[in-house]
Amino acid sequence: MNAVCDLNHFAKAKFDEPGRQRALDRLKVVDSQAEPPFERIVDLVKTTLNAPICAVTLVDNDRQWFKAFRGLNVDQTPRDVAFCDHAIRAEAPFIVEDATKDARFANNPLVLFEPHIRAYLGIPLKMPDGYIVGTLCVIYQEPKAFSEHEIAILQNFANLVVGELELRTIAFTDGLTNLLSRKAWRDRVEAEIDRAGRYTNAGSILLLDLDHFKSINDTYGHDVGDLVLRKTAEIVNAVLRKHDIVGRLGGEEFAVCVANAPASVGFAVAERLRVQIAALAFPDHPGLSCSASIGVAAFEPGATVDALLKQADEALYEAKRMGRNQVRMGESAALPSWTD
Ligand code: GH3
Ligand code: MG
Ligand code: MG
Repeated sequence: MNAVCDLNHFAKAKFDEPGRQRALDRLKVVDSQAEPPFERIVDLVKTTLNAPICAVTLVDNDRQWFKAFRGLNVDQTPRDVAFCDHAIRAEAPFIVEDATKDARFANNPLVLFEPHIRAYLGIPLKMPDGYIVGTLCVIYQEPKAFSEHEIAILQNFANLVVGELELRTIAFTDGLTNLLSRKAWRDRVEAEIDRAGRYTNAGSILLLDLDHFKSINDTYGHDVGDLVLRKTAEIVNAVLRKHDIVGRLGGEEFAVCVANAPASVGFAVAERLRVQIAALAFPDHPGLSCSASIGVAAFEPGATVDALLKQADEALYEAKRMGRNQVRMGESAALPSWTD
C-alpha cells in the first residue's frame, strides 16, 4: 500500500457528501469556460513539477470535471474511476507512487488505457467552509516517489486555486441573493446557447421583473425590499433545475435560462414562478404582497443571447402593459399569454 492517506474509518465517518456537493454547487464553477488564473496555475504546476499531466479537478455528482488541465484529451471522466475521488476523502495529500502495484487502482481503466496513470499526487481543494470540492493533481506515466518539497509546492499551488475559486465566486455572484450577477449569467448563457446550437437542443430565456417594487421599498423600507428580493431568489432556485442558469441582472430583475427543454416548458416554469411569487407571505408584514411579470423567449437557430434578451424584454414589457402579474411569450413563439 503506497497511499499516504487511506480511506480510514474516521475519514469515512465524517465525509458529508450531500454537504460537499452543495458546497461545489454554490461555487457555480462546473461546466464554466476556461479562465486565465486556472490556466496559468496548471501551466506553472506542469513546468515546476515536470509533470506530463496536471488538472484542477472538481468532483461533481457522478463525474470528475476538469476546470483546467494539461496533458489530457477529455474534460471529464466518470467518478467511479477517478483517483481524485479518493483524494477528496483525504484531509491530506493523496499519493499513489505506482498504480499498477496498488490493488485499488491496478485494474482502473485510466491505468490500463489512456492516460496510463502510474504515479499520482492530489492535493484536496478545501474551501473555507471546510468542504473539499476537488483536487489539484499531477499525474506521471512512470512510477514516482514524491518528495516533501514537491508535495509542498503542489500544496502552495492548491492554496492558490482555492483563493481563485473564492475570488471568482465574489466576482460572479450577487451578494444579496447569491445568484449569478449580470455578466456571469450572460457568459454562462452564451456558452449554453453555443452548446444548444451545436446539438440543436431547445431552450428558453425568462426575464422576470417584480411589479411595483419601488412602492414596496417606499412603504416598508429598503430592508424589507431586500427581503422580498431574497425570497424571490429562493423561489427561483427552488423551481429551477440544477442545469438551468439563474441570475439577478440588477435591481428587481431576474433572468433564467431553461436549458434542454422546449419553450412550452420555459413558459410553464415562468407560470410556476409567477404563481409562487404572488403567493409569498410575510408574517411580519401582513399587508405586504408582491407579484412578477415575466417575458419568455425561445431559443432559435442563430439567435444570440442579446437577441433573446431583447425578445424576452419586449414580452416582459407587454406583460407590464397588459396589467402585470402575468407571463408573455416573445413574438416569434406561438404560445398564448396566460393570466389569472
Ligand atoms: P414596475 O412594475 O414597472 O417594474 O415598477 P417598479 O416599481 O418595480 O420599477 P422601478 O424601476 O420604478 O423601481 C425599481 C426599484 O427597485 C427602484 C430601486 O430603488 C429598487 N431597487 C433596486 N435595487 C434594489 C436593491 O438591491 N434593494 C432594494 N430594496 N431595492 C432595490
Ligand atoms: Mg419592477
Ligand atoms: Mg425593473
